[in-house]
Amino acid sequence: MAAAEPTTPVVIALGSNLGDSLAILSQALEYLTENYGLHLIRHSHWYRTPPLGPPQPDFFNGCALFHTHESPDQLLHCLWETEQYFGRIRTGKWQPRTLDLDIIFYGQEVIHTPHLTIPHPEYHRRAFVLVPLAEIVPDWRDPRTGVTVRELRQQVDCSGIRMVKDF
Ligand code: ATP
Ligand code: CA
Ligand code: CA
Repeated sequence: MAAAEPTTPVVIALGSNLGDSLAILSQALEYLTENYGLHLIRHSHWYRTPPLGPPQPDFFNGCALFHTHESPDQLLHCLWETEQYFGRIRTGKWQPRTLDLDIIFYGQEVIHTPHLTIPHPEYHRRAFVLVPLAEIVPDWRDPRTGVTVRELRQQVDCSGIRMVKDF
C-alpha cells in the first residue's frame, strides 16, 4: 500500500465587511474544503471588530486550521480564487471587502517572496487575528521568534473585539 502523502498544518485568517458577512465566512470554509486539497480541522468563533483605516462597516473575522497537500503558492492561488468567487473586488488596501483570506502560518515555514510573506507580516500586532487564533492554536509558536500565539494574544489590546454568539 502506498504511504499516505504528507500534509502540512496551515492557518488561514478570514475577514468580511461587505454583504452577508457571517454567511460568506461559513460558506468560504465549505468552498475551500470542497474545491481544493484542504481538510478543515477546526475553526474559531466569528468576531465583530472595528475596521482599520477609512470609515466603513465593522468587520467579521475568524481563523481556521486546515491540513493541506497544496504548496504555499498553490494555497495562495486557492485563496485568491475563493475571494473572487465570493465577489471580492480589489479597490486598494483597507477598503471594504466581501472576503479577505490571509495565510497566517504554513507549518513552521518562513517565506519571503514578492507575493507571499509567511508568517503574515502583521498578524502579531492585530487583535482581530490573535483573538480567534488563540482560540484554535494557542500553543503554536511563531517560527521566527518562538513566541506562542497565547503570549502574543496577551500583548495586544483586545477590548474592541466581540464574539458573535449563537452562530
Ligand atoms: P494585509 O496583508 O495587511 O492584511 P490585505 O489583506 O488587505 O492587507 P490584500 O489586498 O488582500 O491585502 O493582499 C495583497 C497581497 O498580499 C496579495 O495579493 C498577496 O500576494 C500578498 N500576500 C503576501 N503575504 C500574504 C499572506 N501571508 N497571505 C495572503 N496574501 C499575502
Ligand atoms: Ca488581510
Ligand atoms: Ca489579504
